Amino acid sequence: MDFSYSEAQISIADMIRDFANKHIRPDMMIWDETQKFPIDLFHKLGELGLMGVLVPTEYGGSGLGYFEYITIISEIAKVCGSIGLSVAAHNSLCTGHIMYFGNEEQKRKYLPKLASGEWIGAWGLTEANTGSDAGNMRCQAVQEGDEWVINGTKNWITHGISGNVAVLIARTGAPRTKNNTTAFIIEKGTPGFMAGKKENKLGMRASETAELVFDNCRISDAQRMGPVGDGFHQAMKVLDGGRISIASLALGIAKGAYEASLKYSKERHQFDQPISNFQAIAFKLADMATQIEASEMLIYQAADKKNKGEKMSKESAMAKYYASEAAVRISTDAVQIFGGYGYTKDFPVEKYYRDSKLCTIGEGTSEIQKLVISREILK
Ligand SMILES: Cc1cc2nc3c(=O)[nH]c(=O)nc-3n(C[C@H](O)[C@H](O)[C@H](O)COP(=O)(O)OP(=O)(O)OC[C@H]3O[C@@H](n4cnc5c(N)ncnc54)[C@H](O)[C@@H]3O)c2cc1C
Repeated sequence: MDFSYSEAQISIADMIRDFANKHIRPDMMIWDETQKFPIDLFHKLGELGLMGVLVPTEYGGSGLGYFEYITIISEIAKVCGSIGLSVAAHNSLCTGHIMYFGNEEQKRKYLPKLASGEWIGAWGLTEANTGSDAGNMRCQAVQEGDEWVINGTKNWITHGISGNVAVLIARTGAPRTKNNTTAFIIEKGTPGFMAGKKENKLGMRASETAELVFDNCRISDAQRMGPVGDGFHQAMKVLDGGRISIASLALGIAKGAYEASLKYSKERHQFDQPISNFQAIAFKLADMATQIEASEMLIYQAADKKNKGEKMSKESAMAKYYASEAAVRISTDAVQIFGGYGYTKDFPVEKYYRDSKLCTIGEGTSEIQKLVISREILK
């Protein structure tokens, strides 16, 4: 494996740093305080090619690979986890699902709008009573001639209000049976499809999370993606890639918290010396640096397999599990290194601390990652 960053990755990172300093850093604490989803920012990110990173150029995307994708998500998350989460969810969930499982007509219709950032995408799998146990969902689509009638609610959906289009995984067979779910594409404005409650969250507050509500929502069979009954299988494939996204998000948050701590530990003096002179602080920094490099290697291993089109469920679960737990440990230690200042909103580490926790929950909790890993190694 080659561990050096490519020229493309270096120039992408430079571009994002520059963009973030102008367009994210100045307002991110206001967005965080007010839970504002800054939709115009995502249109701008689209102009830079960051909303359709993996989408082939023939569908209006940037046609890049997973290594570049990791750089994009982690560099954004280094500055603001919320913006990183929204870019990740848009690219890998809604856009990714249509890219992998849409037919030619669906890809031509939706991918250019999503890749340019003109449209924001949402992806609905989770429900109030079925998160980890997503296969047991209640939201149901019933076929009536050439149409489907959908009833139910999806919860915790990123861009549930602002999304112009949603990929929905709904139950089309009997509960607790095999192949009982199907994927559909549903546009905002379709009668019977509306947004519900917006969540008031601990972290990732500028990334919008809301319910999707379906009340006798009728869509044409042309909006179905892939065969009837294939929804869960498709969702699991999408989440394999999505886990690289969340691992990259965690990596960026961890790097942001570490870099802030390293700088602060050299500047802050106690007992007439920088606090980095104290072994208790220096060892925290050593632990942080080691965990960041280990996370990065696991993420690159999964990305390498994904780029080659190889099966990578185990590798992406390992990357997501390790990087997200590491990000929580690292951002917790960062608050400790900052002392009382770390507990205030004048310094960046309290936000990394709050944002990091989502990474151990979203797109499969750490416990579910361990389930995936153990199933793979015990085969
Ligand atoms: C900010 C945010 C954004 C999100 N965005 C989206 C989105 O865009 N689309 C979407 O579909 N979903 C989204 N989600 C939902 C997310 O994927 C779920 O919250 C997650 O999968 C966990 O499901 P749950 O919350 O129902 O927890 P539960 O499944 O109820 O889990 C509760 C606890 O039980 C544990 N547990 C459950 N089952 C097992 C088991 N078999 N073995 C061991 N432990 C177990 C879990 O690990 C966890 O600790 C989002 C969530 C958040 C917080």
